[in-house]
This record gives sequence, structure tokens and C-alpha cells, in this order.
Amino acid sequence: MAKEKSASSILKEKLMMKNENIFKNTTLKQQKDALDFCEGYKKFLAVAKTEREACETVEKLAIDAGFVNVEKKKTLKPGDRIYLNNRGKAIILAVIGSDSPAEGFRISAAHIDSPRLDLKPNPLYEDSEMAYFKTHYYGGIKKYQWTSIPLALHGVVIRGDGSKVNICIGEDEGDPVFVINDLLPHLAKEQSKRTLSEGIQGEELNILVGSRPFNNDPDSDLIKLNILNILYEKYGITENDFITAELEAVPAFAPKDIGFDRSMIGAYGHDDRVCAYPAVAATLNCAKVPKKTVITILADKEEIGSEGNTGLHSVFFKHFVERLVKGTNVSVLDALSKSMCLSADVSGAYDPNFPEPFERRNTCFVNHGAVIMKYTGARGKGDTSDASAELMGEIRQILDSNKVKWQVGELGKVDFGGGGTVAKELAALGIDVVDLGVPVLSMHSPFEVVGKMDVYMTYLALKAFFK
Ligand code: MN
Ligand code: MN
Repeated sequence: MAKEKSASSILKEKLMMKNENIFKNTTLKQQKDALDFCEGYKKFLAVAKTEREACETVEKLAIDAGFVNVEKKKTLKPGDRIYLNNRGKAIILAVIGSDSPAEGFRISAAHIDSPRLDLKPNPLYEDSEMAYFKTHYYGGIKKYQWTSIPLALHGVVIRGDGSKVNICIGEDEGDPVFVINDLLPHLAKEQSKRTLSEGIQGEELNILVGSRPFNNDPDSDLIKLNILNILYEKYGITENDFITAELEAVPAFAPKDIGFDRSMIGAYGHDDRVCAYPAVAATLNCAKVPKKTVITILADKEEIGSEGNTGLHSVFFKHFVERLVKGTNVSVLDALSKSMCLSADVSGAYDPNFPEPFERRNTCFVNHGAVIMKYTGARGKGDTSDASAELMGEIRQILDSNKVKWQVGELGKVDFGGGGTVAKELAALGIDVVDLGVPVLSMHSPFEVVGKMDVYMTYLALKAFFK
């Protein structure tokens, strides 16, 4: 016979906040749906390691789902599915709703750039009969994590005649990979005295790319020449073409399940494709004619402060909204000031290996659900858009009424550091915005970890938001 609940346990249930592993309070069917959803996400991640690849992959998915390039549209009507591709690095999807733009839009915004190592404009050199690429790191990385792991090279080169060649080496089974060497521990006595942040320095992030001379001529730089010859034969490029290239070194490994129970995914670039993918899926699966126009923005350059004309600090999103309100008597700013946005970005998950920088009561946990961050920023809420209680209330209603499992979180203890998202760029346009996304372990490392239930709940959250 079931034991009767005590008065205190009844009252606790009624009054106290609950934050628990959602494998405990979801049905087996929901768990299976979550695992299935994550299979699709892993496939996406494997082919979308750079902002260009993510943009291209999403464009294809959108076209397959009936989305049309906005350039081809003269007028828009409810139910129209459109997209804007910003220079192959950022993309916006929209499904036109039945409401007037005067009622505002439902927007989600994620970013598709991730920390990585870019090649410098003059990268190739030879030293002691080894050939290397000089790199310039992009975004916030712990440099020591990028040594002694297999690296792949992705990107584009514009040749002298203006033609473009796509490069992707290190992903296929038979491909070679590249590596940044570290010093053997036997001789690392002096290196070990460096602080962790200086353990490997920026100018030591040189990628090993070859060691075989062109031939046995009594000449110099034959290893380098041989590399150039291979590149010329395969891609028709010369050393000068590196100046007009964007080549990115990223970890060469594929996404993998983590744990005996396969409850997590390890991969490069979860931040922020783990929110971009659910946002795209929610947009593709939204109502044929939603009430409010649904918009998903996948931005570039978030990791370096949203700068540049593919980052959200630029006007490209505003320009897109101009097209949405064209032919109506609603202004861009009128529409945006009535709009609501979920800034879909990751947060740092509590890590029991490193408890110190986290404040347990206000931190997110892996597989406890999508995390809402009222604000990000650092110290005294510097550099953040602090969502209002009213907006938090509206989002809470949407999530709870759709049975989405969620938690709240801050990024670490108040005085320990912090970070930002695109939320403040959107808030600057007058939009009501709050951060919602997936908790991540080892964020910005070459192999980040997320919980599968959190990925799925982020999808359900965005789907509910677009309803
Ligand atoms: Mn991010
Ligand atoms: Mn980041």
C-alpha cells in the first residue's frame, strides 16, 4: 500500500522550486524522441563545422522545406517561407504569419561561428625541414587544449583570377590530418612553470603540415615548395592565394555519444550549433501559417563580439525586417518593438570537477532541461540585456503550458567572470529578448559535451515559442 504523503511533502511540492534530472520526470516515449532528435543533430554537426558550412547546410534544408530566397520575392503573404543568405556566413529564415507586422514577430537567434584557429594571410613556412602554417586564433580559447589533437582544414581560397575553390581536408576516412605539437614532459620543466593561460602561446599554435622535400636539389625551402606543389596540383593555388583565403583549422573528430548510457554528445562546435539546429528544426516544423511571423536568425561573428557585416551588430537583420514590412504602413521599429526573441545560446553547465566558479543554486545542470538566463554579462551585470520580469513571465507561461522542461542559470559566480550573447544586440533594436539554450561542459574546448535531453527540450521550447 502506498504510504500517505506527509503534510510537509505536500507543502514542499506546492511551494518549493524543483530542479532535477529530467530523465526522472519524462516518459520513455519523450526520451526516445529526444534521442532520435539528437541523431539528426549529430549528422548536422558532422557536416557543419564552420559558419560557411552551417549556412550552406541550413540553406539546403530550408530549400527542401519550401523556403525561397527573399531576393526572388516581390510581395509577401501569410504562409510564405523565405530566407536571406548573408554572404554565405549568416542566414535568416522566416515564415510569414497571419498577423500584421504591427503585432510583432516571434524571433529566435543563434550563432553558427565557433572558436577555432584561422590561418594567417601568409601562413606557410619551413623550419628545420618541417613545414608549418601560422595561425591566428578566433574567439576565446584555452590554447593548450588545441595541441596534440587531429585538426582538419576547412574554408575557401580566392585564386588570382577571381575564381573560388572550397577546401575541406581531414574529414574523410582516407584524408590526412594536421596537428600542433606540444613539448614532451621530459623536457617541459621550464614550460611547466608558465601559467595555464601562457602554457601554449599564440605564436606557438603552428600547425605541422609536412616534412618531405620536393626533390634532392641543393636548394632551400624544399619542404615548403613540396607543399605548395601539392596544393597547386590539387587546387590550382599559389602562395599568394593564401592572402585571399579564409582557412579555418578545426578539430578533425566527429560527434560521438558520451557515456555507457549514451546520455550525452561530445563534439566540436556545440556552441552554438546546439541551439542553431533546434531553432532551424522548430522553424521548419512550425505551423503552415503561424499567427505571428516566425523568424530564425543564424548569425556569424558572435564569438568575436558580433562585429562585421555578418555579425548581429550590423544592420543586416534590420534590413531583412525592412523587406517584411514593405507595402504595409508599419515601420521596422514599430514591428521590432512589439517583437519577442529567444536568444538561443549555450550556458556553462555545472561541473563537479571544478565546483569553485559555479554558484550551485543559480547554475544549470546537464540534462536538467533548457536553461533560461535572465541576463548574461559580467560582474555588476555589465554588458548584458537584463530581461524584464514581465517577459520572463510570458516565456514561463509558454514553456509550462507546453510541458517543456527548463531550468534557470547564471554563468558562474558573480565575481568570477562572465560572457555575453547576441541578446543585447537584439535588445538594442527594441525587441523583448531573453537567453534560452543548452548547458555545455568544457565550453569552447575542441570537444564540448551536452546532454541529449537538453538539446531536445531546447527544440520543444522554440517550437512552443513559435506556436
Ligand atoms: Mn555562444
Ligand atoms: Mn561561445
